[in-house]
Amino acid sequence: MDGMHAANGGVGDMGENAGERYRALAYDTALSTLAAIFVYVVVKVSLDGIRQWRARISVLIVGSGPVGLTAALVAVRSGKVLKLTVLDERYRTALLCRPQQIALDPRSVKFLLGLGVDFDNMEGCWHNEHFFTRIGVFQEYLLSILEQKKQKVEVKVQLGTKFTEEYLRRIPHNHWPRVIVVADGSCGDSCSVLGISSDYTVESCHAYGANAAIERLDQRQVPTPEIRAHSLYFDLSAYGVEALREHRNPASKPGFHLKIYGTFRNRYMALVCPASETKMVRFLRHTANSSIMKNIFHQSFNAYKTDIEPRLSDVTRHHMQCSRRLFEIQLSHRRISAAYIDGDNVAVTVEGEAARVLNFDTGCGVNLGMRGLESMGTFIYRTATAVDQNDILEALSAKMQHSRQVAETIKQTGLVESMYE
Ligand SMILES: Cc1cc2nc3c(=O)[nH]c(=O)nc-3n(C[C@H](O)[C@H](O)[C@H](O)COP(=O)(O)OP(=O)(O)OC[C@H]3O[C@@H](n4cnc5c(N)ncnc54)[C@H](O)[C@@H]3O)c2cc1C
Repeated sequence: MDGMHAANGGVGDMGENAGERYRALAYDTALSTLAAIFVYVVVKVSLDGIRQWRARISVLIVGSGPVGLTAALVAVRSGKVLKLTVLDERYRTALLCRPQQIALDPRSVKFLLGLGVDFDNMEGCWHNEHFFTRIGVFQEYLLSILEQKKQKVEVKVQLGTKFTEEYLRRIPHNHWPRVIVVADGSCGDSCSVLGISSDYTVESCHAYGANAAIERLDQRQVPTPEIRAHSLYFDLSAYGVEALREHRNPASKPGFHLKIYGTFRNRYMALVCPASETKMVRFLRHTANSSIMKNIFHQSFNAYKTDIEPRLSDVTRHHMQCSRRLFEIQLSHRRISAAYIDGDNVAVTVEGEAARVLNFDTGCGVNLGMRGLESMGTFIYRTATAVDQNDILEALSAKMQHSRQVAETIKQTGLVESMYE
């Protein structure tokens, strides 16, 4: 019996020991699995981090207008660009001598400050938190910054070089850029070279407008603040339009907004009113007499110009170029503003006036382009660090969505900010 007890006790001990060993083994296995998962996660996160940190791509920018060059600066500042090529079909002199002035609004100024633009080192003037400079001055400043970045990034500026199918063919296949930014302005055709559809959505801004331009060679070409005037009415009684009767009814007042901008040498004017069907608006929209618009601009200029510039004489009035009548202000924006070139693994985005443009010059046009560039840094980062095609497609989709948002905002509030206020 004792022997039996001893034998049973032995079996019981053995069973407990085996259970304990089993539990210990299970515990060890769970621990080492957790440790392995932990090491895997740490290694993966570190490797991903290193890969993202090291990821650098080659970027090509087509067009060295204010938008193309700002996009170049965004690319350099993203820290994700190894090689940047910027090209323009114009040679340096033609590129930098454009007479237009650009007006950077407070939001664009903030965006450019974030990119390291030093407005104290640029010829221009401030007025109402807007910065006014010549388009060429702005481009020259950005070109000089890009020049300074050459130690960090391989920057190649090719002026006098048109982007064509031939240009693309000459790029060796293993040197193709991963991102192409098309910023070739409202007349560029680079999108068709890349096979991107040229379909536009045209939307009304629910306003009518007219533009005028005068060149006075004896005047200065220095940056000049804009002038705005509101609630203007014109006496068109000589043409049979009884404006006075409409004036008495406040509900029917169209109220015109006028802007005089540009340098004293290249003066531009924009006249706009919210869409309405008053007699005056209908008359100015359909008149066949082009001298009426000219008279309106002539008289408005002399009434609202700065004191230090000369009045427009009948001779200068004769040289004034202006819209024949009021027209509906419309925003055209590309249906496809971002695309993926399969096979070559290239992401393309369209920016500035190549992406969206008003048929009316407000004197603030450049800001529409700057708005689109606000998502450019993230887009370059996401493309550079993409693991697969899906990531690139997602980055492109976000870029396109932002472009649509920009167009929608311009349509809703663009004229309010640039003309009505
Ligand atoms: C008369 C006038 C007055 C204006 N006044 C004002 C103002 O007072 N304030 C304001 O803010 N804005 C003003 N604007 C608008 C302003 O000039 C534009 O908003 C701005 O230039 C748009 O910039 P962008 O870079 O998109 O295009 P762009 O400035 O047109 O630049 C496009 C560039 O692409 C190049 N290009 C085209 N095709 C190719 C190709 N195939 N290969 C290589 N390069 C190519 C062109 O040579 C050009 O240099 C005015 C415009 C005009 C016409």
